Amino acid sequence: MAKPKYKLETIPVWDALEKDDECFLCALMKEAEQHGVDFYLGSSVMNPETRVKVNENGFCFHHFHLLSKAQKAQGLALICDTYLEQSREKLKKSFQLLQTSPSGRKMNKAIDLFNSEISNREKGCLICTQMQTRLDRYLYTIIYMSQYEEPFREALKKSKGFCLHHYKELINNASDVLGAKEGAEFIKFITDVELNNIERISKDVLWLTQKYKSENKDKPFNGCEDAHKRTVSKMIGDYRVIDPIKNLK
Ligand SMILES: [Zn+2]
Ligand SMILES: [Zn+2]
Repeated sequence: MAKPKYKLETIPVWDALEKDDECFLCALMKEAEQHGVDFYLGSSVMNPETRVKVNENGFCFHHFHLLSKAQKAQGLALICDTYLEQSREKLKKSFQLLQTSPSGRKMNKAIDLFNSEISNREKGCLICTQMQTRLDRYLYTIIYMSQYEEPFREALKKSKGFCLHHYKELINNASDVLGAKEGAEFIKFITDVELNNIERISKDVLWLTQKYKSENKDKPFNGCEDAHKRTVSKMIGDYRVIDPIKNLK
């Protein structure tokens, strides 16, 4: 058995697996996201180091709105105050060019500059980055334990599998964790689990469509009342990293 390279996140991974969701990595990402929101609106906002990071990177569209919905006016006001100030400073030159450039090539250049300033400004969300760090550890743990811990492998076999996006993350990380040969074994194993679950959900959603036909009105739902929602969770996932800093590299 290869010794794990990183600390295994055994407890949160087991707890999430036992929740029996359509994707337990989505469940773990939900927790990670909540942790990120609480962290940036909590006492850390008073920490100068955190404020510098927030000013530099900010948050993606989705996470700035989550911070806004959290109803913590003081914390978000502090973030916004310095983030807006820094944004004004960064955009100053660009605004000036938009005010003073003549029409034609120079104005087009000023617009291009503003476009790139804005897209850079909104890249590298700190909450997405925190979520990515946790995701990397969870992926490592799942791949490692499924290869070396039989009870976990058995539980995984009986699980509901993953959303397609987190399945993709698992197959992409397999050989980094286990090497090429064992990585390929893991990919085959997890693909079987995933395909069985896609089959299960496709039957469920098909039955839900049939239930709406008048001849099936009095037949039981067989637990398929929410199959449409579970199909969305399986195809797209419920919680995932949108814009981590590492994707900028
Ligand atoms: Zn997922
Ligand atoms: Zn984000």
